[in-house]
Amino acid sequence: MRFSKSFIPTLKETPAEAVIPSHILMIRAGLVRQLSAGIYTWLPIGYKVLRKIMDIIREEMNAIGGQEFHYPALNPKEIWEQTGRVEAFGDIMFHVKNRDYVLAPTHEEIVAWHAKGGITSYKDLPQIWYQIQTKFRNEPRPKSGVIRGRQFIMKDSYSLDRSFEDLDKSYELHDKAYRKIFERCGLKFFVVGASSGAMGGSKSEEFMVKSEAGEDTVAYCEKCGYAANVEVAQSISTPAKRHSESKELYEIYTPNVKSIDELCAFLNIDEHETAKSRIYIHDGKPVLVLMLGNDEVNETKLQTVLGGNVRPAHPDELKEISGADAGSIGPIGFKHRIIADNLLKDANNLYSGANKNDYHIGGIDLVRDVPNIEYFDLRIVENGEKCIRCNSNLEVFRAIELGHIFKLGTKYSEALGVNYLDENGKEHPVVMGSYGIGVERILACFIEQNYDDKGIIWKKPLAPFDIHLIGLNMKNPEIRDTCESLYTNLQKDGFEIIYDDRTDVSAGFKFNDADLLGMPLQIIVGEKNLKNGNVEIKIRKTGEKVLVSLSELSQRINTFLNE
Ligand code: ATP
Ligand code: MG
Repeated sequence: MRFSKSFIPTLKETPAEAVIPSHILMIRAGLVRQLSAGIYTWLPIGYKVLRKIMDIIREEMNAIGGQEFHYPALNPKEIWEQTGRVEAFGDIMFHVKNRDYVLAPTHEEIVAWHAKGGITSYKDLPQIWYQIQTKFRNEPRPKSGVIRGRQFIMKDSYSLDRSFEDLDKSYELHDKAYRKIFERCGLKFFVVGASSGAMGGSKSEEFMVKSEAGEDTVAYCEKCGYAANVEVAQSISTPAKRHSESKELYEIYTPNVKSIDELCAFLNIDEHETAKSRIYIHDGKPVLVLMLGNDEVNETKLQTVLGGNVRPAHPDELKEISGADAGSIGPIGFKHRIIADNLLKDANNLYSGANKNDYHIGGIDLVRDVPNIEYFDLRIVENGEKCIRCNSNLEVFRAIELGHIFKLGTKYSEALGVNYLDENGKEHPVVMGSYGIGVERILACFIEQNYDDKGIIWKKPLAPFDIHLIGLNMKNPEIRDTCESLYTNLQKDGFEIIYDDRTDVSAGFKFNDADLLGMPLQIIVGEKNLKNGNVEIKIRKTGEKVLVSLSELSQRINTFLNE
């Protein structure tokens, strides 16, 4: 590819709209441009990398027996209504005006619809159907560039099986294929147990990369490898105590004391002697959620425990429900359902709100005073707590989700009537799995893991080109002729080359662009070296420069690229 004839709009300055390194560099190196919030155009060099990623994905999906489909993005709304997911997706789903169509945010429904028409007998199973296609989600806060787009490319596959045992096999195949895909793309990643969220289903795992830019938080144990999204992570943490003697209940005047920290300071007590209250509305009814000390409610766990429709109560609803505002609410005298975190199990001599503004209650015995209380794991794991598997320290950090594999089960096949007949002519619902990869996230995460202050640092197989060929003074005919012949011959040798043949920019400008674009090797053709039959190879990653004679060039390039 000749630079002079290509559209590679590199930028010197950091674009105002970008914050994280990959986003900044993708704009500066001319890989993408934002058309509108969360909507990106892939420019030629960016798209070249994306195609390489898609090729790797295709190879690995085909290797597990996947068959490539291409489902439409524009879907009749009716199919989505049959599974209740128009409501479940809510504002995230794009609706087409004047027509009963939606833009698909994922494709479980459409796959199930085709399976209903196409799968009749156990002989038709198993199947793995995949596609690499555009998805639409009206993400409320598109940021971090292509990592969270409103239009994005997903590799999504779906397994169709006759039993849950067979689903286990399809799931394992995907697990292996995903590991290969991310390894081949050169990413450092790890796998975590996850929540199945709005998708439904049982087991699910996420493939993650550690990154400050991530919107997921994971708990990770370096010692034993336990890793889980904090949405579902568990830990060992100090519980509240049950003392041998229970005190009597007593009311304490606590003016302006709202938070647990303020309460502890005011009464000179430990956090482990307090219970914090949060009110949620579950299918229209209030539920008090009681947490130990400063522990936060894990809303994913809460949703799993309660089922149905769960939301935090609004501030103006609190007084009517409990008699008090936030900061003074508690279990004593609370007239609705009360659930508590496991760490509070059977504790006594606790302090909590009195359901009366500016008052707290001491001497609470959850066994004696809150007879119908129910206990669940409801808390968010925190950095430094102990691993539930090996008791070592857990690390909690931010991460980006690259891919997600789910055991869906029969939710979609039951909703849409996807059945098969077994050997005895008996009808069963098809058992489904669903598996997604964010294609653009692979590219962005690769850059997050491979850059320096000068730009991107590509390596094979994602590198858009192997070599960035730079002619220093292109007005010198000797340099020009050498560059032209290198460009032709090295391509014949099988290398991919971007050739900076521009005559109207300075050497410094070319060097900066080459570092910013980040091909693994740069070949620099200049007057002085050429006189001795040499050119310079610069290794982008280390900055190391080596003089190489023209006769040995192809062989040396091979060695460097394979190192
Ligand atoms: P997230 O929690 O980041 O929103 P998700 O759980 O909604 O992701 P899935 O529905 O499992 O994602 O989609 C499969 C894959 O598609 C994700 O693992 C991710 O790599 C990618 N993906 C999801 N949403 C986006 C988006 N808005 N922009 C780019 N890629 C996305
Ligand atoms: Mg999402």
